[in-house]
Amino acid sequence: MESISRTKIVDLLKREDFGAKVNVKGWVRTRRGSKQVSFIALNDGSTINNVQIVVDNEHYDEELLKVITTGSCVSINGTLVQSHGKGQAVEIHANGVEVYGSADATTYPLQKKGHSLEFLREIAHLRPRTNTFGAILRVRHHMAFAIHKFFNEKGFFYLHTPIVTASDCEGAGSMFQVTTLDVNNPARTEEGAIDYTQDFFGKSANLTVSGQLEGELGAMALGAIYTFGPTFRAENSNTPRHLAEFWMIEPEVAFNELKENMDLAEEFIKYLIQYALDNCIDDLNFLSEMYDKELIERLKFVIEYDFVRLPYTEGVKILEESGEKFEFPVYWGADLQSEHERYLVEKHFKKPVILTDYPKEIKAFYMKQNEDGKTVRAMDVLFPKIGEIIGGSQREEDFDKLSKRIEEMEIPMKDMWWYLDTRRFGSAPHSGFGLGFERLLLFVTGMSNIRDVIPFPRTPKNCEF
Ligand code: ATP
Ligand code: MN
Repeated sequence: MESISRTKIVDLLKREDFGAKVNVKGWVRTRRGSKQVSFIALNDGSTINNVQIVVDNEHYDEELLKVITTGSCVSINGTLVQSHGKGQAVEIHANGVEVYGSADATTYPLQKKGHSLEFLREIAHLRPRTNTFGAILRVRHHMAFAIHKFFNEKGFFYLHTPIVTASDCEGAGSMFQVTTLDVNNPARTEEGAIDYTQDFFGKSANLTVSGQLEGELGAMALGAIYTFGPTFRAENSNTPRHLAEFWMIEPEVAFNELKENMDLAEEFIKYLIQYALDNCIDDLNFLSEMYDKELIERLKFVIEYDFVRLPYTEGVKILEESGEKFEFPVYWGADLQSEHERYLVEKHFKKPVILTDYPKEIKAFYMKQNEDGKTVRAMDVLFPKIGEIIGGSQREEDFDKLSKRIEEMEIPMKDMWWYLDTRRFGSAPHSGFGLGFERLLLFVTGMSNIRDVIPFPRTPKNCEF
């Protein structure tokens, strides 16, 4: 076959130089036709849209045509032709066909259309070949890019915080341990405890549950940083909103107080949604049509209106007076469940809500304490369909108050001297938050299970590949 340089389908569909000789390569979505002519719908992953290839059967070997079935991979030379079919501007009239890889029609798992998302989770190695996961993975890419773009434009620096950490002050119990000790026969101390001085790092180590503490170190030197990396939580919560391995974005800004922190979170999330509408509309329209008819409307709605900003105490009052039957009780001091968060957002305000000033007992030790002695300067951003999408706070910058809180909460701080040093030397007010990347993607794609917005989901009892 003549060698012609390949055009991606996304670019080809925009071309108008009819008569040009072109080459496309991709995976066959469908092939139909008659004895004389075949119509191949070809997709190469560059766009949700397929290009139609018209093949004059008589010019090709029957054996060759037989293996061009759904899922097979082909290279096509042909002429670019204006199409009269509906829904497509161009098509290719083939004059050369090469098969790279066949896909046996009796065993290829994606032979038929319309598989359930549950089934596709079981074949996560092949699901990127479906329209749905192609769309989701492209949106995921664009959102990751937009995150870097947003922070770069605002003068934030991308800080790489460690994935293996020795601090367990945040997530004791929900951390994955990292060790080179022989788990069947670990080194032991004279008292019989596991002897971590013999472990790789000379102490026990874990996968990070958040880059925040290290992020604060960066903010106290560079002024404004963000992290964007994998995060691990061994929480046994089998919900549609939790993964054991997920990605988190954590900006941290020196001199920002809670108000500026909320402004940043709102601007950030609106920027990302606008970026998706501007750059992913074909994929979003497809997902909307398939899974969530109100998706585009909901995205536009979030951009258009100011988020409600409300103290926790007032939020709880609204919930108590709502007359709504909740599965979990609601009272001042309760950690709000997703049903409570969604009531405020979907039923009461019908807008995203930033809830602030939570009781200190249900929040982390590093949050800045309010004058009332009862609450801390926390902020959770609550979204329709999702519940909590962002969790953040102004941080306690006062050395004495922070140390006292650490003692009260009996947090193992023996290895945390470095964190306290930020308050010992040149302390400053500062704030930050964490956005769960997959929660953002749930919102932007309209999908309802977090396992469907990450290529290789890790959840309890599930770690294939
Ligand atoms: P939740 O109450 O929903 O379990 P959290 O309060 O434990 O979340 P934070 O520690 O505040 O979460 O983490 C910041 C953000 O990271 C959350 O707002 C959420 O978007 C995301 N996130 C937290 N845990 C998970 C998880 N297991 N899987 C996916 N995203 C998560
Ligand atoms: Mn939170």
